[in-house]
Amino acid sequence: MRAQPKASHFVNGDWMEDEAGEVIEVTYPYTGEVIARLHAATPAVVEAAIGGAQAAQADWAARKPVERARVLHRAVALIRERAAELAALETLDTGKPVQETEVADWPSGADALEYFAGLAPTLTGETIPLGGDFAYTIREPLGVCVGIGAWNYPSQIACWKAAPALSTGNAMVFKPSEVTPLGALQLAQIFIEAGMPAGVFNVVQGLGAVGAALATDPRVAKVSLTGSVPTGARVYPAAAAGMKHVTMELGGKSPMIVFDDASLEDAVGAAMLGNFYSSGQICSNGTRVFVQKSLKERFLTRLAERTGAIVAGDPEDPATQFGPLVNAAQHAKVLGYIETAKAEGARLICGGAAGNEGALFVQPTVFADVTDEMTLAREEVFGPVMAVLDFETEDEVIARANATQFGLAAGVFTADLARGHRVIAQLQAGTCWINAYNLTPVEMPFGAVKTSGLGRENSRAAIEHYTQLKAVYVGMGPVDCPY
Ligand code: NDP
Repeated sequence: MRAQPKASHFVNGDWMEDEAGEVIEVTYPYTGEVIARLHAATPAVVEAAIGGAQAAQADWAARKPVERARVLHRAVALIRERAAELAALETLDTGKPVQETEVADWPSGADALEYFAGLAPTLTGETIPLGGDFAYTIREPLGVCVGIGAWNYPSQIACWKAAPALSTGNAMVFKPSEVTPLGALQLAQIFIEAGMPAGVFNVVQGLGAVGAALATDPRVAKVSLTGSVPTGARVYPAAAAGMKHVTMELGGKSPMIVFDDASLEDAVGAAMLGNFYSSGQICSNGTRVFVQKSLKERFLTRLAERTGAIVAGDPEDPATQFGPLVNAAQHAKVLGYIETAKAEGARLICGGAAGNEGALFVQPTVFADVTDEMTLAREEVFGPVMAVLDFETEDEVIARANATQFGLAAGVFTADLARGHRVIAQLQAGTCWINAYNLTPVEMPFGAVKTSGLGRENSRAAIEHYTQLKAVYVGMGPVDCPY
């Protein structure tokens, strides 16, 4: 097996195995070949991870912030040194083309670690003058944080959660999706090589039950989940019962609005990026592309031309731009949505079937004349299926874009920047772009409104979600007591 790790889990600074756990077979989506065989965490493994994290956290939190930063910077250097091998592993784990995994996955994770390593030592409290007496605040870590990841960006998600958590003095137990369990183990190993104390970052494998055990453990102070809305709706109340902090990065059906004065090439390119990158398996994708009627047919013609030129195939071939879906269940689900779209009367522009490059391919697919009521306009597909809807006026498109339970992302394409800002201001979404799409630099907050989630990852804003304020009142004079 070409990607078998030393053991299933990484706990307390070392690899850990417990063969009593349910077997997890990891397959390479392009060939179906089993590349690793792991075991889900047993209660003993979960106990070791949470107990170890709890034991390690106090010492880690007591270190100077620059000391923690130094460890994270060393981890960043190791990730960059091993960029090629980490990208290759990410491709095997997810099936995404190496052309993507070399530039997007680990590089974005390394950026997050670098950013928070730099930011954490600058965090300070404030002093509050009270006329003689005064108060001050201290920003403290929360304690043991649990991270639970989805399968589309497994290593990036692990880094995005670990970076703000660890830089501010928390410890973490991370559970990757059982579909893509390999990258997070590498991160745990790299942290140890970089000098992080044992137990500060732990990885345990498992399915939903392991995630649920972690999310409800009374020693856990925070749960950060990246996953679907239904999973979020289960994990959030479970965490809330223990009054835990939460970050929820969930699904979406985000609108991308193209006005007729927009650059056609840019809008078409962004619509493709926002629907076909990672074979469409991206939470913030602009899967409802609203195109102003006067531009619509020109937009569709150019979109079909450029989509037809996408190079699908072997993900390990550097020339490949488009890979398979992650597994058979996702493949079947996406093809089901395509059939439903046809049955409900959407106009197929291109694609619309399984690809012939391998068992799990779906052709990059575009449907036009999609209406707001169609399933394709309402449900998250999580595959390479773009819905193009048309509109006439600004007010109309804003109302329709907002008519959804989701609120993760939104984009506007227009040459009229005043309109761009005006429209974005009215869209109900946490992460927005004007004349760009799906760029998520670590410097910018990432997160959602409505049922797509709460809390923010990346940027200074993430600090709020991994720390808490202690307020201290200092009496400088005699205690004024009426008794
Ligand atoms: P799932 O919601 O199926 O799973 C997410 C994670 O939660 C997995 O690790 C899963 O384990 C775990 N889990 C499942 N049930 C529970 C439970 N009851 N308690 C605790 N943990 C649980 O998502 P997918 O992995 O299928 O990923 C796709 C979804 O993720 C899409 O909806 C997508 O939009 C969303 N996503 C959101 C992002 C964002 O930042 N907003 C980014 C990326 C994806 P297991 O895998 O074993 O089931």
